[in-house]
Amino acid sequence: MMVRRGVVVLALALWALACGGGVPDHDSEDTGTTAAVEELEAAAGGRVLGDPAPVSGGQLRVLVYHDMEGLSGQDDWRTFDFGHSSFYQSGRRLLTDDVNAVIDGLFAGGADIVHVVDAHGSGNPEPDILLDELDSRAEMVFRDAPFRPYVDLTEAGAYDAVAVVGMHAKTGAGGFASHTYTLGMDINMNDMSITETELIGYSWGRVDVPIIFASGDDKLRANLETMPWLEYVEVKQATSASTADLRPVQEVHVEMRAAAQRALENRDQARTMRLSVPITATLRAFPPASLSPLDGVPGIDYEDGRVSFEAVDFQDAYDGVIALIRVGTTAYPDVLIETLQGLPDGPHLLSLYEQSLMMRWLDHESGRWAPAAPQQQPSGRRYHGAR
Ligand SMILES: [Zn+2]
Repeated sequence: MMVRRGVVVLALALWALACGGGVPDHDSEDTGTTAAVEELEAAAGGRVLGDPAPVSGGQLRVLVYHDMEGLSGQDDWRTFDFGHSSFYQSGRRLLTDDVNAVIDGLFAGGADIVHVVDAHGSGNPEPDILLDELDSRAEMVFRDAPFRPYVDLTEAGAYDAVAVVGMHAKTGAGGFASHTYTLGMDINMNDMSITETELIGYSWGRVDVPIIFASGDDKLRANLETMPWLEYVEVKQATSASTADLRPVQEVHVEMRAAAQRALENRDQARTMRLSVPITATLRAFPPASLSPLDGVPGIDYEDGRVSFEAVDFQDAYDGVIALIRVGTTAYPDVLIETLQGLPDGPHLLSLYEQSLMMRWLDHESGRWAPAAPQQQPSGRRYHGAR
């Protein structure tokens, strides 16, 4: 058995090298260790696991991402939607309490600095977190220009660990509000359908920073079997994408504190994740999204609702997937038209729309209309993400 295993590992090592690999240079001396064996085995699945970078600068720094669908005490989708103001207010309360429980655990686990970043994007011009009630030892991430939380904060030496709170399962998982990035998208990297948590993991893996903690429902727990080192807190059981059985919130918070503390104390046992390059990226769309407008475009690899492409690295793959997502979301207004058709004055509204469409064409063609110039960002404004 030992020999057989050795042969398998050697074969995988050759495979990884042949693919231009993905094994990071700094790990190349570790080939005799269990960790290295794990890396080589994992490489066969299109990814490479590694050791966290050493803590530098004498301070332990943690970045906490929060989403808003995997909260304890939450079983109504309106609580994560800015458009439903009274429900959304109660969602902000639940969010703030979950995040504070995790922050408390991180400081108990030895954190010197904890920053929190909004990875939800509810549409609120303000952060979803109730800032006045955020644990005063932590700080919300703001920048003076819009930024993409998954990829623009990733920088070597900025943080030593990442924790994710209030996360949801991926599209097709049957979790509470399960989706990936936005409605009806399934993101695949190197033939692995991934969650947003893994997307964050691959982004931070670029600079050898691990995700150490996550919270969400039972379906996300199952999705994250790909990250067995995670301290995971299951806050509820999804009974459909819009219903859930809840656990007592106080009990969840006690567990969150303890798990976040353990996660940081055991940071060195966590693994970092990199995608083997080149990356095969695929976006598959499900209703209400659709990629079918791309069917038949020469140079576009479209098949059965999905588009694939090869990317040189994670950033390239991410940018391409996001561009495809923008195409996929152009199908959302089909639901708007269905909705209007069902309203008493729907036919009237649709005829106004058709008229506006015609006039936009005729006015542009006649030089009477031009798209507005991109707006300058007002100076002095601070952003917690795209807003
Ligand atoms: Zn999300």
